Amino acid sequence: MAAVKNILKHVSTEVAGRRRKCYRRKSHEILKGDLCLVVRDGPQSQTTYCTVCASEILTKADGVLADLRVQFAATHDPGSQE
Ligand SMILES: [Zn+2]
Repeated sequence: MAAVKNILKHVSTEVAGRRRKCYRRKSHEILKGDLCLVVRDGPQSQTTYCTVCASEILTKADGVLADLRVQFAATHDPGSQE
C-alpha cells in the first residue's frame, strides 16, 4: 500500500539564521534564533512569517481542515460505520 500523502509539504518551520521580516506585516521582525513559519509557494518563492502570524495562519488552516473533514463526515451514512 502506498504511503499516506503529506499534503502540507510546502509548510515547515525554521529557526531564523539571521534577522528577517515577516511577510504579512513588514513591521513584524523575526529575530535571529526565532522559530518562524516557512511557506513555499513555488520553487523560487518562499515566504516567512513571525510566530504571531504563524499562529493565525495555522488556526486558519485548522479551520480549513476541519471543514474538509465535516464534508467527508456528511457523506458517511451514520449507520454504516465499521
Ligand atoms: Zn507577522
